[in-house]
Amino acid sequence: MIKAIRGTRDLLPPDTDLWNRVEAKVRDVFARYNFHEIRTPIFEDTQLFARGVGEETDIVTKEMFTWMDARRYSEKELIFEWIAIHSPSAFAQVEKKLFFDLVAEVDGRTNVVEFMSGVPNDSSWRGAVGRLRSAKAIWQQAEPNTEARLVVPSSKRSSTLRKPTEHLGIIYEEIELKDYEEPHSLTLRPENTAGVVRAYIEHGLDKRGTLQKLYYIGPQFRRERPQKGRYRQFYQIGAEIIGPPSAGSDSPILDAELLEMLAALLNEVGLRGWTLQLNSVGCSDDRARYNQALRSALEPVVATMCADCQRRAETNPLRVLDCKVPEDQPIIEKLPKIGEYLDEPCRVHFQVMRAMLDAVGVPYIINERMVRGLDYYTRTTFEFTHGDLGAQSAVLGGGRYDGLSESLDGPKAPGIGFAIGEDRLILALQAEGVTADADLDAYITPLGAGMNAHALKLARELRRAGVSADLGDETFRLKKSFEAAEKAGARFIVIVGENEVKSGEFAVKELASGTQENVARDRLAEFLRHSQ
Ligand code: ATP
Ligand code: MG
Repeated sequence: MIKAIRGTRDLLPPDTDLWNRVEAKVRDVFARYNFHEIRTPIFEDTQLFARGVGEETDIVTKEMFTWMDARRYSEKELIFEWIAIHSPSAFAQVEKKLFFDLVAEVDGRTNVVEFMSGVPNDSSWRGAVGRLRSAKAIWQQAEPNTEARLVVPSSKRSSTLRKPTEHLGIIYEEIELKDYEEPHSLTLRPENTAGVVRAYIEHGLDKRGTLQKLYYIGPQFRRERPQKGRYRQFYQIGAEIIGPPSAGSDSPILDAELLEMLAALLNEVGLRGWTLQLNSVGCSDDRARYNQALRSALEPVVATMCADCQRRAETNPLRVLDCKVPEDQPIIEKLPKIGEYLDEPCRVHFQVMRAMLDAVGVPYIINERMVRGLDYYTRTTFEFTHGDLGAQSAVLGGGRYDGLSESLDGPKAPGIGFAIGEDRLILALQAEGVTADADLDAYITPLGAGMNAHALKLARELRRAGVSADLGDETFRLKKSFEAAEKAGARFIVIVGENEVKSGEFAVKELASGTQENVARDRLAEFLRHSQ
C-alpha cells in the first residue's frame, strides 16, 4: 500500500471544518485591517532562500527540499538530435533502427555513442563513463578497429562547442540540443516572507508609494524530524507590511498594529491561553556588537557547555541562547542581554512600540533570549506561545526585517510580518476543546418508493434558501434514516412521504430533543434555519 510521505499528512473532516472556519475568520480579520491576499509560487529559485533567509540558518543549511531542475532527455531524443547534426539524410530512418545499427550506419567512423538522459552533473558523468566502457567492450568485440564516443548534451552555441576530446580511449563530443536548459536549483518554499519580498521587488510595488499590507495562507516545506506540531509540509497564515520609508514603513505604530491585530485574531478564532513574548534584536550593527560580547563572555565557559553550544559559540553565538540543555541554563542566564547593546534609535523604537501596546491593552512579556531563527530580523521580534503544545510551543513568530529588500537587490523597504503555524494553531484550539460545530440543518429523508425525486426537489428549494441539507434514499427504512441523520450531525430530520407531498406539510423532528411538528412547505426553510 502506498502511504503519505513521512512528515506529511492528510487533513480530513471534521478537522478540515475547523481549518476552514479558522481561515474564514482570519480572512475576515485581515480585511478589517486592510490586508490583501498575495499568492506566490510554492517553489522558487534556491538563491532566494539562501540570500533571503540566510546561509547560516537551520532552514537553509539542513531543512530545504532542493532539486536540480532541467529537462530530462530520453535516449531516443538524444539519438535524434545527434543524427540530425551528423547525418540529416539518415534522420528519416532513425526510428526503425536499433541503437548500434544506427550509429554504424550514420557514421562509419563513430561506433559507440553513449546517450545520456538528463543533466550532466558529476554523478551522471561517472555513470555514463561506466556505461560507455561496457558498451565499448561489447562493440569492440564485433568491430575491433573502431572508436568509442561519448556524446553529451550542451546548451552552448555550436561555435563554442568544444572540439571532440579523448580521455581513457573514449572520445567526448558535445552536441547542441535545441531545447537544452541549463540545470537550475529550485527549492520548495520553507517560509513565505522571502517570496513576498521578491514579488514586491519584481512587480515594483514600491512604486505604488503606499504601504503594502499583504497576507497569505498556504503550505510550506521543511525537512525536519517529524513530531507532534512539526511536519515536513505544514501550513502558515502570514502577513507582511512593507513599503518605502516615505510611507512610514519603519514606524513603530506598524509593529504595534500588527501585534494588536494578532491578539484580536487569536481571540476571534477562539484561542485563549496564549502568551506574547517580545524582544528587540536591534539593527545589524547592534547585533555585531552583541555577538562580539557573547563571544567574549562565552570564551572562558564554553568548554563546559554542550557540543552544540561549543559549535554555535564559533559559528553563530546568538544561537547559544536557543540551547535547551538544562546544565547550560545557569551559564546562559548570566550571558549579556541584547537589550544592553541596542543603539539609541533602536531602543527608542522598542520603547515607543511597547508604550502603544500598553495603551491598547495587549499583554506581553519581554524575553531577551528570544532571537528567532531567521537572519533577516531587525528590531522587534516576537512569538506567541501556547501552554498546551508541549515542546513545539510557538504558535506563531515574526518580526521586523528592515534590510531584507535591499539584501535581495530591491529598494529600501522596511517591513514587518509574522507567520502563524496553522497546524499548531489548530492543535492548540483542539487542546482547548474548540471544535467546528456541525452545521448541517436538515436531513431530508424520502419515505417509500418513488419519493427520491420529491426529496431532491425539496432539498433543492431549501438549499437555495440557505439551509444546509443532506439527503437519504427511498430504500432506507425509517430507523436507518434516523441513524444516518444522527451520524451526519443534522439538527432536524424532514420526512418526505406521499402524504407530506400531497398536503404540503412536512413532519420535522428535532433530533436532540425528539420533538416533532408539522411545518408548511413555505415556512420550512425559515423554520430549519432559525429555530436553533
Ligand atoms: P520552531 O522554533 O518551532 O522550529 P521556527 O522559528 O522555525 O519555529 P518560523 O520559521 O518562525 O518557525 O515559522 C513560524 C511558525 O511556523 C512557527 O512559530 C510554527 O508555529 C510554525 N512552524 C515552523 N516550522 C514548522 C513545522 N515544521 N511544522 C509545523 N509548524 C511549523
Ligand atoms: Mg524551526
